Amino acid sequence: MASQALYSKWRPMAFEDVVGQEHVTYTLRSALASGRLGHAYLFSGPRGTGKTTMARLLAKAANCQYPDPAARPCNTCDHCLAVNEGRYLDLIEIDAASHTSVDDVRELRDRIAFAPNEGQYKVYIVDEVHRFSGAAFDALLKTIEEPPAHAIFVLATTEIHKVPQTILSRCQRFDFRRIPLHQIVERLAMILEYEGIMAEQAALELVARQATGSLRDAISLLDQLITGQDEVLTLELAQAILGTTTDQSVRDLTSAILMGDTGWGLDIINRALEEGSDPRQFARQMVDYLRLVMLVQTGGPELATTTITEDELVFVEQHAEQFPRSALLQTLRSFNEAANDQRTGWQPQLPLEIAFIESVDKLHAAPQPEPPPAPAQSSQRPARERREAPPAPDEQAGDSEPPPQPGSITTAQVQERWRSVLKTCRSVDKVVEALLNSGSIVGVEGNAIILQMPSDMLRDKIEHDQNRQIIESVLQQVYGLPLTVRARAGSSVSVQSGNQRSREIDDIVASDPLVSFMVNELGGSIKRIESNEE
Ligand SMILES: [Zn+2]
Repeated sequence: MASQALYSKWRPMAFEDVVGQEHVTYTLRSALASGRLGHAYLFSGPRGTGKTTMARLLAKAANCQYPDPAARPCNTCDHCLAVNEGRYLDLIEIDAASHTSVDDVRELRDRIAFAPNEGQYKVYIVDEVHRFSGAAFDALLKTIEEPPAHAIFVLATTEIHKVPQTILSRCQRFDFRRIPLHQIVERLAMILEYEGIMAEQAALELVARQATGSLRDAISLLDQLITGQDEVLTLELAQAILGTTTDQSVRDLTSAILMGDTGWGLDIINRALEEGSDPRQFARQMVDYLRLVMLVQTGGPELATTTITEDELVFVEQHAEQFPRSALLQTLRSFNEAANDQRTGWQPQLPLEIAFIESVDKLHAAPQPEPPPAPAQSSQRPARERREAPPAPDEQAGDSEPPPQPGSITTAQVQERWRSVLKTCRSVDKVVEALLNSGSIVGVEGNAIILQMPSDMLRDKIEHDQNRQIIESVLQQVYGLPLTVRARAGSSVSVQSGNQRSREIDDIVASDPLVSFMVNELGGSIKRIESNEE
């Protein structure tokens, strides 16, 4: 298989070549140098972190004929060469998954009794040892309780909790850790340099991140990505093949949740998918990222350094500061669900979108009970009001200005000077002006002007704190009253149909960058066109 090629080719030949796991190499090399090898080792840890590689190095070093034990394996003596070429008789590798019967283990025990053929030690590597049956474990236990002087057992497992305590207590145990991102990237870069292939650093980081600490997976992925020598492995190419989205999208979507900006978030998702990201993969990347945010929030930045670079850590730390703990956990759960959603419906992005909206709602939903249903004014779409009305008038008592009385301003009075409101807004913030322009005044309740907005997205934009503050200050300026706006969604007026009309609209959208932003980015619609008198 092509994906095995690079990995086999670049398998470490000496302890110095091993990436990560310094604690294991150090201890094993000391044991070798002092001639104090044990008879039973247990290597546990995630797949692809170098357990079998380390076991083979140990087997090779144990039988190496080089005079200085500290320099073993030498990779030049007969024994080393035989191991490297896979023809060394005293290295026996057993896959526990296919040797589960008692007979297998009994046969193994019988063979162990014989002295090594060539070297000083017979080394047995038992991979995935947790897959042994109970009887097989018993037989193995008997063997390692009284091992012959010439036998070394190296048991490897990804699931340490399935290995019986009786076995564990007889072994020297080493825990293999996921390999830090920067070490994987360095290794990939080195391999590519030797292979004469150019690659962008960001592409290598993406591959490394996908491999989640497994060097074997990283190298296999790399193998799938490189096709020809002349080609440069770009981030874009890596993303396209791996179906991943950019880190930027992942970070932005997290920011959109924190800001409660559903329009922006849905836009990020759409754009990523249009560019070829896989929605489940996107959800998975969100889970990875949010998990880092959680780790940094609870345990500090050092917990994240195995999986990200220094630059990325800055973003993670920011988000960790802003995200309330319980909302963060809920958000993680939502995206985890989307990542594991196996159904491939006709809307594959739906689970991702739901996870996003749910996260926004959970973070921004007011804790107060739902307000009573609004009077049946727009019957098909009930108005959703998530934010509370502004402070009650009596809270402002004592101010020099007269407090506004409920009903002190009428809808007609608001309408009368609305044009001034828009004009004043224009000088402050054009987007806010455009937002107000896309809504229509449907009434006044107390000191709140009720605006009907064409979409939920635009309603949320109006209600966004920053925008609302601008509007309120403008209203104060124009009407001399502390008024506020309350937005409702649902189009009360629909765009007139007809070719002439829609062409006119298209022209306006195309010619005005602000209108184009409103329509294309925010999902607004044009419902009234007025000629400008000036
Ligand atoms: Zn040697």
